[in-house]
Amino acid sequence: MSALLKPAAPLDVAAIRAQFPILNQQVRGKPLVYLDNAASGQKPEAVITAITDCYRGYYSNIHRGVHALSERSTTAFEEARERVRSFLNAASAREIVFLRGTTEAINLVAHSFLRPRLAAGDEILVTEMEHHSNIVPWQLVAAEKGARVVAAPITDVGELDLDAFERLLGPRTRLVAVAHVSNVLGTVNPVARIVALARARGIPVLVDGAQGAPHLGVDVQALGCDFYAFSAHKVYGPSGVGALWGKAEHLAAMPPYQGGGGMIRRVSFAGTTFADPPERFEAGTPDIAGVIGFGAALEWTRGIGLDAIAAHEEALTAYAMARLAEIPGLRLIGTAADKAGVVSFVLGHVHPHDIGTVLDREGVAVRVGHHCAQPLMDRYGVPATARASFAVYNTHAEIDALVAALWKVKEWFD
Ligand code: PLP
Repeated sequence: MSALLKPAAPLDVAAIRAQFPILNQQVRGKPLVYLDNAASGQKPEAVITAITDCYRGYYSNIHRGVHALSERSTTAFEEARERVRSFLNAASAREIVFLRGTTEAINLVAHSFLRPRLAAGDEILVTEMEHHSNIVPWQLVAAEKGARVVAAPITDVGELDLDAFERLLGPRTRLVAVAHVSNVLGTVNPVARIVALARARGIPVLVDGAQGAPHLGVDVQALGCDFYAFSAHKVYGPSGVGALWGKAEHLAAMPPYQGGGGMIRRVSFAGTTFADPPERFEAGTPDIAGVIGFGAALEWTRGIGLDAIAAHEEALTAYAMARLAEIPGLRLIGTAADKAGVVSFVLGHVHPHDIGTVLDREGVAVRVGHHCAQPLMDRYGVPATARASFAVYNTHAEIDALVAALWKVKEWFD
């Protein structure tokens, strides 16, 4: 369990499930068992209502209007920024930039923060367990500047090899970029330790929080990192929105990423000046209702309690690991001591796509494939895995359904 979390009272999961209309359905004649939460989570009524209330009651463009609807939309939009600040325990809402999600947030940091600091021969240190979103943006700027992306190795159980990581922190390392939680292995990385090692050498750290934010209590000040990126759709919010938190001094020094309306102070053909952060990085009309839904999702999550969510998901993960280990020929990929809500596996010679197809016939939704982590697949010598990932609304009975469906896979293919 993360050091940030206190033991929590058990959740009333039935009452929570009742708030997710999508869960109450049959798929292929079987009750839906939704275990694809690492790809995207489902949305509670509170979020759906916040979005429809906006469109039905007070939607308008923000920031530029003097009329009543624009004022209301602007207030709700800025309230969402405050909710993100509070969710991350950031020092100021001015450090929160609304973007399309984790991917866009990392691209923004690559272009506006890293690119001007990067020279030929420099290095960006990531890990072998990163999602492509935390590899490719760095490769793009590295290729342009003659720099390179270096991957710190992981152990066979799927933990970062901290000694090797420390050895790779060199005089040419300009940035460390690391996942808070791996989307394939579920490993919770020791981010505070990673940050301490990097900061001792003056190296800034970006944390890819796409899988950390849904499962752990995040405190960016306690983590000590420089940037934290996450997506609303994995924290019970809508898709297409997310946030970047960056230290105020970094954001203030960063040039704009995209130009357009909303990010300027004064435009003229003699020269244009730019707004302060966060608006400097929010060119164009944002997903206003989406951001408002994002704020509602974080408020809903806070209402349930991150500690309670983490404890519930930890229990589900431990139960899933134990039950899956009963199946002969099943190989768990990722057995780190500190694991959050994600279980990957392969089953004998059965291709993960076949596993996914048979599970789907049983109403069980999992993800199969490389999970946008091809270097990690290479590390384990597999082309793909099957992945079950848990959210606050999942139950032990659903894991039993997964296991029963996997026995059918075995019957089918053995
Ligand atoms: N990083 C990790 C660890 C992820 O799991 C994901 C999405 O699966 C991303 C980044 C990218 O998130 P998004 O597609 O919401 O930008």
